[in-house]
Amino acid sequence: MLFTLVLGYRRNKQRSSGDIFSDRSSDPLTQTNFTYNRMHTKITSIKSEPESTSASEHHVFVRRKRSRNPELVTKTEPILPDIEEFAYGKPNVNLPLTKSKPKTQVKPVNPPSNWEKVLEQIRKMRSLNDAPVDSMGCEKAGTSLPPKERRFAVLISSLLSSQTKDHVTHGAIQRLQDSNLLKPETIEKADETTLKNLIYPVGFYTRKAINMKKIAKICLLKYNGDIPNTLEGLLSLPGIGPKMGHLVMNVGWDNVQGICVDTHVHRICNRLGWVVGTKTPEETREGLQMWLPKEEWVPINPLLVGFGQTVCTPLRPSCSLCSVNELCPSAFRAATTPKKKLPGKTKREEL
Ligand code: SF4
Repeated sequence: MLFTLVLGYRRNKQRSSGDIFSDRSSDPLTQTNFTYNRMHTKITSIKSEPESTSASEHHVFVRRKRSRNPELVTKTEPILPDIEEFAYGKPNVNLPLTKSKPKTQVKPVNPPSNWEKVLEQIRKMRSLNDAPVDSMGCEKAGTSLPPKERRFAVLISSLLSSQTKDHVTHGAIQRLQDSNLLKPETIEKADETTLKNLIYPVGFYTRKAINMKKIAKICLLKYNGDIPNTLEGLLSLPGIGPKMGHLVMNVGWDNVQGICVDTHVHRICNRLGWVVGTKTPEETREGLQMWLPKEEWVPINPLLVGFGQTVCTPLRPSCSLCSVNELCPSAFRAATTPKKKLPGKTKREEL
């Protein structure tokens, strides 16, 4: 209808001026440079061309609805933390993450009615067999050394223990000690390749060798060769996360500020219903600390780690041999098959 109005306007104009369409065919539509889009176009004006243009050519100017050119839209590439940050569960605050998972609110849990009975049964099971953690855990590092050197040894052992089995960490610590490379002074002077070769095959050995040197330097410059005596100070060291921080505070300074929750403690607490739906060891730590008496905060770690290494294993837990199977809500229902790995994703550096 609008189009008809436009044509009517032009015909009236022609009649009044007497020359506009004088050289045109009978159908002015065929002579008109015209663009019309029924859905997205709106006719806004009709203008004559400048004087240089032939008077017979008239253009209908239309305004198209602008569409966004995707090439002009500035894309912001997501910058993700490197694999080490995932492994340690410690976000790099210097990286502008475009997506960050909101922290789940840990639900308060009342103490499970039978937790003391379950704990007692687990203690009995643990007393029957040794687990790797009993002789090769981080807290066993440098037991023959003076206190200051031992603290540093426990710190380095904790650093190496991430994504690494106890016996592998233990072997690496032994080789470092035999090479006189378990002190900040000697580590700071050693070259990275030497450290890397000595700690191989611990997970992320290249990155850990770099971090060992950084930690040694910080300890020498800021702490007179000792380690930080606060949780904040420990967490500020490269590669040290909350799990390690709490362990080092407990063992190194006899200062209990929280439960050391690793993947074993996290898994078993969820299986036993001691925490509800926690997604990370940090959430489990928060949930557990809400009800577990403080005198249990230190012994719970080696107890459950060893239980996880021998009975309540990640895959195919030995529920039929477990003496709490009548009290455990996950008995005979825990995972029996490994999760399918996504291609290209790995937790370990090449070994
Ligand atoms: S019954 Fe099974 S899942 Fe429950 S604690 Fe024992 S081994 Fe673990």
